[in-house]
Order: sequence, then C-alpha cells, then structure tokens
Amino acid sequence: MSDSLPYIVLVGRPNVGKSTLFNRLIRSNRAITHDRPGVTRDRMEGLVRRKGLPSFGIVDTGGITLDAHAAVTEGPAGIRGFERDILAQAEAALAGAAAVAFVVDGRDGLLPLDEYLAAHVRRMGLPTLCVVNKVDGMEREDEQMAEFHRLGFPLLPVSAEHGYNITALCEDLAALLPEGAAVEPPAPPTLRLAMLGRPNAGKSSLINALAGEERMIVSDVAGTTRDSVDVRFRRDGRDYVFVDTAGVRRRTRITDSVEKFSVNASIKSSTKVDVTLLTLDATEGVSQQDKRLMDMLDTRKTPFMVLINKCDLVPREALATLKKNVAETLAFCGHVPILAVSALAGTGLKKILPLAQKIHEECQVRISTGQLNRAMEEVLAKHQPPVVKRVRAKFFYLTQAETAPPTFVFFVSDAERVPESYTRYLERALRKIFGISHAPMRIHLRSSH
Ligand code: GDP
Ligand code: GDP
Repeated sequence: MSDSLPYIVLVGRPNVGKSTLFNRLIRSNRAITHDRPGVTRDRMEGLVRRKGLPSFGIVDTGGITLDAHAAVTEGPAGIRGFERDILAQAEAALAGAAAVAFVVDGRDGLLPLDEYLAAHVRRMGLPTLCVVNKVDGMEREDEQMAEFHRLGFPLLPVSAEHGYNITALCEDLAALLPEGAAVEPPAPPTLRLAMLGRPNAGKSSLINALAGEERMIVSDVAGTTRDSVDVRFRRDGRDYVFVDTAGVRRRTRITDSVEKFSVNASIKSSTKVDVTLLTLDATEGVSQQDKRLMDMLDTRKTPFMVLINKCDLVPREALATLKKNVAETLAFCGHVPILAVSALAGTGLKKILPLAQKIHEECQVRISTGQLNRAMEEVLAKHQPPVVKRVRAKFFYLTQAETAPPTFVFFVSDAERVPESYTRYLERALRKIFGISHAPMRIHLRSSH
C-alpha cells in the first residue's frame, strides 16, 4: 500500500462476497489475482475513490477458496483448519490497516466461523464496520440483520451483487479512517515504467521483487473490453508505477505456446512510460524478437535498459558472452545500460530503480545555449569536421530543441558534408561534457547558409 493512504481490510470467511464487494468498491469488473499455480496468491489491493470522500486503499485478504460449509459441518476441528489460512493472510494485512470491514453473509446468517473471526478482529482493536452482504430484498432486511448485532460492531446491510448501499458503505468506511488522514489524494507517480520481454523471462518476478510488499495494484476498466493493471509502489521516498502489467501478462498468455511476444504491443507500452525495462532470460539468450524490439526501441529513441535476468542460472563466462551479444545488438546505442540481475537471488536489483531514475532525469536535461556553444567550440577544436568533396562544413551554432529525449541542433554550412561518423563523435562528446550517459539523444544538423 502506498505510504500516503490509509487502507481498510476486508475480513470474512470464504463466500461471503468479499471479492464481489472489493470489485464494487474499486469499480472494476474483475479482481486482479496472481493466479499462477504454485505461487501464493497475492492479496488484492485497490483504491477506493468517491467524489467528496477521502480516498483510501482496500485490501482483500483472500484468494481462499475453501468450502465454508466444512467448517460448519466438521465443527470446531473444521474451523481450526480455516483458522490458520484465513488468519495468516488477514494478519499481515491487518498489521498496517486503519480499519476493518468485517463481511458476513446475510443469507447464511451468523455462523461459528464468523464469530471466531469476529473475536479475532475485536482483539485487534481497530475501528470495525460489520458489512452484512447479500441483503438483496429490502423486505427481509431487519430479519437478516438481527442476529449480527451480537457481534458488537456497527452494522450496514449491502448487496455487493446488486449494488445496494454501496455509496453508504463508502461513506461509512471513510468515517472509520483516522481524522484528517486520507484527504490527500495519492501522490502522482514519479516514474512510469514498462516491463517488456518474452514469456517466462521473469517479468512478473522482477516486478514483484522491485515493488516488494508495499505494492498497490490498481485496475482501471477503460470501456468494457480492455483493462490495464498498474502496479504502484514507493521506494526510497519515490513513487513508481509499472504500467499495464496485465496487458503484458495477457499477451504472454495468448502467445505462451509459441514463445513469442508482440513486438508492436511492446512498443506501444513503451510509449506510455518514462523508462522501459526489457528483460532477457540469461538461459535463453537474445531471440530474434528481442533483437527486433531493441532495434525499434533504439530507432524510436525510447529511454530503456536491458535486464539480463536469471543470472543465477548461468556461469560467469556465459553471462559475459551474452552481455557482449546484447552490446553488439545495441552497437549504435552504447548508452543503453545492460544489467545482469536475478529476480530470484536478488542480484543487481538495487541498481535498477536508481538507474531508471537517472535515465529519466537525463532525458529531462535542459542545457543553456551559452553552455552549448562553449561545448561546441571545445568539441570542434578537438576534432575538426572532415573535408568532404573539398569542403569542410562550418559549424555556426548549437541549440537544444527539445527534451525527452534531449535533442540538439547544430546549424552548419553544409549538413550533407558532415559524415555519420562525425555526427556520432559529436554525440559522444556532448554526452561526455553534459553527463548524459544513459538517455537516448538526437543530433540534428541543419544547413543555414
Ligand atoms: P469471497 O469468497 O468472500 O471473496 O466471496 P465472493 O465475492 O467470491 O462471493 C461468493 C459468492 O457470493 C459468489 O457466488 C457471489 O456471486 C455471491 N455474492 C456476492 N455478493 C452477493 C450479493 O450481494 N447477493 C447475492 N445473492 N450473492 C452474492
Ligand atoms: P514472466 O512470464 O516474464 O512474467 O516470467 P515469471 O516472472 O513468471 O517467471 C518465469 C519463471 O522463471 C518462474 O518459474 C520464475 O520463478 C522463474 N524466474 C524468474 N526470475 C528468475 C531468476 O532470477 N532466477 C531463476 N532461477 N528463476 C527465475
């Protein structure tokens, strides 16, 4: 969860409607879960925003899909089985929570497992609202509510499925928040990142490792067909967001079998962010698609870095060879950082975000015309432009036309007489003088007679 926002945890036994409520609250049709087999399911986190109310985070503690009835039919022994699962998940979330929404099922009535969980929640001492869900028909409301008074929490009847009382629920939950805490809107993300790479390269593992426990998954349903899932987190006082991770994941799933990914879709993601991270799998080397993608990112002057992941699985020499291969693929953009990392072992991870920040800062750089022209003199003095067809181009003036990427325009007498190799020298020299080591850069030559 973001540092700046308090959050409320949904607690309740399975099947009371927590995920349905969660989706209502975050206004998404779909719960976001990390549903790879063998991977612990992520708790679901979302943002509740309503006009006129303070915003807050909401956490659904459970992808627990056990049969609630077993708890009842098997008596206390059955309960003990659930107890561990539910409470273990709930506990971690409750530790930092501002309040609890304790969800029960108005149709089932009060079950022993509800009472058990309620006792636990009560011991936490957090402000708690008992949300009586599945109150779908008004006429039975009082009857359905009656027995839940025993829990000792304030009650609110709702229907997650039909949307009954959801506005009241938002208001009541917001009222549980600490005084003045949540009026701040969430801070805008400092840095937008895209994680690209072929299936199984380790993109999700890297995102999880970088974002850590403090992540917040935000789902926006734009229209009806397409959603994007952003992973927000805060690291060393800065906000980051991995944009459209579901998009990458979905494309992954579609193409899993052929071990391909869509280069065009990847390129599109990279245009929506500040810095792109391209992940390669050290055990697989550089595929044709990786090459194409790098080539396109380069041509489009996209700020990016290459992560060679799973470096724990390959020997040092193989890694060095692979690094060389990547560097060769990137021959004309030596500024692109290539990092050997391991999402699993944690190797190299600390460097990634600071490097992304640096790339972004370099992209934003603005240099005064005075400085630029002093630099131009120096650069020309060191290496004169070559004579081409008996004429040496004259350099008059240098300006910065744009940022992101930094774009420099040399006004010269005969642009066509400046060979590509000299332009590359100019770029290298400017990079050195102004400390632009990892951002893309454009150099234009304009003839002005
Ligand atoms: P969770 O296990 O607590 O997350 O529960 P789910 O959100 O998965 O819901 C369990 C079941 O209850 C699903 O079949 C939902 O469709 C259903 N359900 C959720 N909310 C309501 C409601 O307000 N009314 C009715 N009738 N069913 C609901
Ligand atoms: P994605 O498809 O690119 O999102 O890849 P995943 O993050 O799902 O990772 C694919 C597989 O590679 C999983 O089995 C991960 O556990 C494994 N994996 C990811 N990173 C590493 C790593 O650094 N080292 C090792 N040994 N395995 C990794």
